[in-house]
Amino acid sequence: MTANPKYIILLGPPGSGKGTQASVLGENQGLPHVASGDLFRYNLKNATPLGLQAKAFMDKGELVPDDITIAMVLDRLSQPDCAGGALLDGFPRTLAQAAALDKALTEKGVQINLVLNIQVPDEEIVSRLSGRLICRECQEPFHKMFKPFETCPHGKCHGEHLYQRDDDKPETVRNRLTVYWNQTSPLIDYYRAKGILKDLNGYQAIEVVTQALIDAVAQL
Ligand code: AMP
Repeated sequence: MTANPKYIILLGPPGSGKGTQASVLGENQGLPHVASGDLFRYNLKNATPLGLQAKAFMDKGELVPDDITIAMVLDRLSQPDCAGGALLDGFPRTLAQAAALDKALTEKGVQINLVLNIQVPDEEIVSRLSGRLICRECQEPFHKMFKPFETCPHGKCHGEHLYQRDDDKPETVRNRLTVYWNQTSPLIDYYRAKGILKDLNGYQAIEVVTQALIDAVAQL
């Protein structure tokens, strides 16, 4: 195993910028970006049994059942590129997922080092998500107004694969927020009690938030 693997969780409501920040922070830290939503969308695109199982939940903005989600993410974390740690985005989203992650990491003799809690007001989330565009190929998020496509950060395309996610429609966004407050926000207290949570103001320019995240990781 790599010396001192680093496991960092990005916590925050949908649209708080977790995906955008994780792609920069992951590169900055040399950690793979493990996003449960991307893993589900990959399975959906390839029409795998897992993708088909997840689809009905994703379409409604509801959480995919814990057993399916936990198995998928733990499998991803067991791959060789995650031996030095990972930057988790969108997982865990329930207390049961957090407990399963703790157990799996403890069995490997490692632990979560830091949970970055990105805070953004609900009204801002709805306006952000309604303008969001995602690259179907590399999952990179853009925004019609705040982050229009200029160049592909992975040097793979020219913006021809951008699309709006079905679950970014206003009704679904509101349901995803309700789900966040009911099922995911208890994780804030769970990790705060462990002394590994750091709150960050996500209602600022993207680069300002990125710097705050890098500074927080540097203190580890
Ligand atoms: P995201 O891209 O993180 O917003 O996730 C998109 C959708 O995938 C969510 O609305 C859920 O339906 C599903 N999903 C992603 N991560 C999880 C998770 N940790 N637990 C359950 N469902 C998830």
